[in-house]
Amino acid sequence: MTSTITRTPLTVSDRCDRCGAQALVRVHLESGSALQFCSHHFKEHEVRLRSVATDVQDEQHQLKNA
Ligand SMILES: [Zn+2]
Repeated sequence: MTSTITRTPLTVSDRCDRCGAQALVRVHLESGSALQFCSHHFKEHEVRLRSVATDVQDEQHQLKNA
């Protein structure tokens, strides 16, 4: 399966859809839309998100560089 999803790097202006903290994970959905989460909320919903996502852009490693 090939994918042409364009991954735009997450920035400090990208915010968690749940709490407004800096988003570190972007979940791409089949519909073409995307959800953004902080690491806390991504972990909370990770199993369900991975089951519906076409792509999970995980940039939590950025935390260690900050
Ligand atoms: Zn959050």
